[in-house]
Amino acid sequence: LLLPMGLLVSTVLVGIVIWVSRQRLSPEKELAIAIRRREFVVHYQPIIDLSNGRCVAAEALLRWRRPDGRWIRPDLFIPLAEDTGLISPLTDLLIERVIEDQAELLRADRGLHISINISARDLESGRFLPVLSDAVARSGIEPSQIWIEATEQGFIRAEIAASAIKAARAAGHMVAIDDFGTGYSSLSLLQGLPLDALKIDKSFVEAIATDAATSVVTPHIIDMAHGLKLRIIAEGVETREQEAYLRAAGVPLAQGWLYSRALPAAEFAAFRQGRNAEGDDSSTDAGRGH
Ligand code: C2E
Ligand code: MG
Ligand code: MG
Ligand code: MG
Repeated sequence: LLLPMGLLVSTVLVGIVIWVSRQRLSPEKELAIAIRRREFVVHYQPIIDLSNGRCVAAEALLRWRRPDGRWIRPDLFIPLAEDTGLISPLTDLLIERVIEDQAELLRADRGLHISINISARDLESGRFLPVLSDAVARSGIEPSQIWIEATEQGFIRAEIAASAIKAARAAGHMVAIDDFGTGYSSLSLLQGLPLDALKIDKSFVEAIATDAATSVVTPHIIDMAHGLKLRIIAEGVETREQEAYLRAAGVPLAQGWLYSRALPAAEFAAFRQGRNAEGDDSSTDAGRGH
């Protein structure tokens, strides 16, 4: 009797050990703990006015810095957060960090804007908007200084997306559709949404001046955005050739490694100051990379 008893106990013990280690390794648990411990910082990628080369905005991009010093890319943790419902507290944290980082700069310069990414889940629940409005009101910045980027996946349920976008615009924010051309939304859906701006995905920028099949599509996206009276922001601009093309096509705003990668808040402030202090030079040589 002793032998099977011992076997049973050890089996149970091994089971518990495996269960505990699985719990510890579950990415969802890890993410939840990381949010509670606020292991996230926001980096800011400059957005450039192509007509004069000035930095007029930045896109806020979340970075997860683990206690062991490893950085985890948003491509990995954002989808996990979306699938597990953790995106809501993560978006709250994003809003808090952005206001904390940028309120002073935004108050000092009403011409500066920060663009934040809002997930489909956030749009659906609508919970981010009162959180954002409250943070904006308390910090004394203008609602129009915060832009909202929503990915096309967020627009699959058209009526929900439309009412969320309307509410955000009524609160004073500019709303852009992100990664345009890569999602599932139809053109008719896009036409029906009350958007202000469209971000051309970097895959279409990358195709400019190449013989890739997508290069045929890029001018049509730009034409369509103009036709719909949407402001255009090009993302992933890496070369002067791409920049020249976009400027000639009437695209007003661009971001990409040609100008800068996403920077910690203090470095972004310095970048912007340096760039905008260049004065009259910048209007004649807006394409200068940094
Ligand atoms: P996105 O919103 O399309 O952001 C642009 C991504 O392109 C960023 O990647 C940026 O670092 C990268 N990028 C910028 N310029 C260039 C360039 O010239 N060349 C290339 N190859 N890449 C460039 P990142 O920071 O890894 O973010 C990935 C995605 O994660 C974002 O794509 C966005 O969808 C999502 N994300 C990031 N932060 C947040 C957030 O706070 N909330 C939500 N919901 N999603 C976020
Ligand atoms: Mg974005
Ligand atoms: Mg994008
Ligand atoms: Mg993109």
